[in-house]
Amino acid sequence: MPWLPRPDPYAHDLFGQPIPPAYALRKEGGARKIGYADRPGSGPKKQRCGNCQHAQRILHHGQLSFKCELMNHRWDYTPATDINLRAPACSHWHRRPYHER
Ligand code: SF4
Repeated sequence: MPWLPRPDPYAHDLFGQPIPPAYALRKEGGARKIGYADRPGSGPKKQRCGNCQHAQRILHHGQLSFKCELMNHRWDYTPATDINLRAPACSHWHRRPYHER
């Protein structure tokens, strides 16, 4: 995995919202998903992030989002570090224990 600079914790826009780091933006300006621990689809077939034990619900300022706990060193509360629960599982997928479902 290439080295990526950490987001600047003091970078906020005029409305107080965090400014995503440059690597989180595509050339077209859209947010790029960098919240996955590995390439989606590299894990077991027919499994999804939604039934992985590393998928976390995050409530931040009243907004619910889903993130992978293996990538919490990159979390910056922008959609760029969110995961899609319907994304195919990556190679770090582990089944969510029955009592947590
Ligand atoms: S399958 Fe699990 S480990 Fe992989 S990105 Fe999704 S939540 Fe993270």
